[in-house]
Amino acid sequence: MTDIRLYNTLTRQKDVFTPADKNRVTMYVCGPTVYNRAHIGNARPAVVFDVLFRLLRHTYGENAVHYARNFTDIDDKIMAAAEAEGVPINTVTEKYTKFYQADMGALGVLQPTYEPPATKYVKQMVAMIQVLIAKGAAYAADGHVLFDITKDEAYGTLSRRPMDEMIAGARVEVAPYKKSPGDFVLWKPSAADQPWWDSPWGRGRPGWHIECSAMIEAHLGTTIDIHGGGLDLQFPHHENECAQSRCAHDGAPLAKIWMHNGFLSMDKEKMSKSLGNVVTVGELLEQKHKGETLRLALLMAHYRQPLDWNERLIEQAKAMLDGFANAIRSSDAPYVEAEVPAAILDALKDDLNTPAVLAEMQKVRKELTTAGSEAQASTAKSELHAIGKLLGLGSLMKPIKASLDTALESFTGYPPSVTIQISSEMVEELKGARAAAKAAKNWAEADRIRDQLKAEGIILEDKPDGTTVWRRA
Ligand SMILES: [Zn+2]
Repeated sequence: MTDIRLYNTLTRQKDVFTPADKNRVTMYVCGPTVYNRAHIGNARPAVVFDVLFRLLRHTYGENAVHYARNFTDIDDKIMAAAEAEGVPINTVTEKYTKFYQADMGALGVLQPTYEPPATKYVKQMVAMIQVLIAKGAAYAADGHVLFDITKDEAYGTLSRRPMDEMIAGARVEVAPYKKSPGDFVLWKPSAADQPWWDSPWGRGRPGWHIECSAMIEAHLGTTIDIHGGGLDLQFPHHENECAQSRCAHDGAPLAKIWMHNGFLSMDKEKMSKSLGNVVTVGELLEQKHKGETLRLALLMAHYRQPLDWNERLIEQAKAMLDGFANAIRSSDAPYVEAEVPAAILDALKDDLNTPAVLAEMQKVRKELTTAGSEAQASTAKSELHAIGKLLGLGSLMKPIKASLDTALESFTGYPPSVTIQISSEMVEELKGARAAAKAAKNWAEADRIRDQLKAEGIILEDKPDGTTVWRRA
């Protein structure tokens, strides 16, 4: 079997990926700060690391991969948004957490194994800060607790920046309580009208960096296999995560492999809120773009390369998906058992080389459209289904109705009293399709899927917290 090789920011080369425990592969990706709708640039890491999550599940087994992606639900930007809207902070964070989950669901992003919100882990953060103080790597001053970067010999090894540049790059405020200007905040005091938690240093709230270190420890352990995030997080956020965890854990590294996805620009300009050139996933879905078109567009460039988001890119992705869908639709060949072709898996295992994957997929499409026999067509068509399942592209997969029919067909000949059991996997697939339809405000389609499932004895229940559960009637 081909090794998975991933570009590691720590070593600045592609490293062979070997999990510490192949029955418990651990991955963490820094998630969103929930105070506004995700723009398409925010969706890039979610989609890229979803592809990696899927590849790891394919390689090591669905239950062997433990993937955590946090929600930052305490932050000064959230406090400002709540004040501007005149609502409590959790009204803002709960609203945008649900939007984020629906938007990413529409892009075919699987739910990570854990989605910890920072505010539920303040106790663990306080405990880790206490450990850092006890080990001499942090100090309390003036209601704050700061990490002392001079106590970490390895500080800077991830981003490989000289110390003076890191201090300038941290854009630190001049603060009299800091021993060194590069020291960063682990805990800060809260004013009477700000959210607060009790701590040994008085009422306050955590700094941003400590949340990821604490939640990784809580869910995944001391040293994890993969840590990912956008390139913009490499410094200071990831450097600081490394430093905190290393010092709290007597030198044990936080992650073996660090991965960073490149920037997204829009019409050749850096996509940023301050420039006003952002487009949200919600807006794109409302423009009637299919979630999987946006997903494919995000995968058309290699994840480490910059990607320019523009109309042409969306059109190219749509044309490619239509090409696959038309090839499948025009073929009457029956589905057979098929695996994802080795060339595609190999390209994916080569540092998620999605442009090479797409090129290989075109070859399979061509095999289908030029097949000389039904057997050849069946194989190519079924391979496309397997690829669609692996990559989260619904257009390549068997139509929902056909999947149900196949499930029903397999019971033909049984007495009518035998209950037909639709597989849980199939229900999950349909549940995902319905979430995508709801996110795109396609209520008719969402209702159609729910009714279709109901007819098959599966009841979907929408919970007040925005999640959907299902049971057999
Ligand atoms: Zn983080």
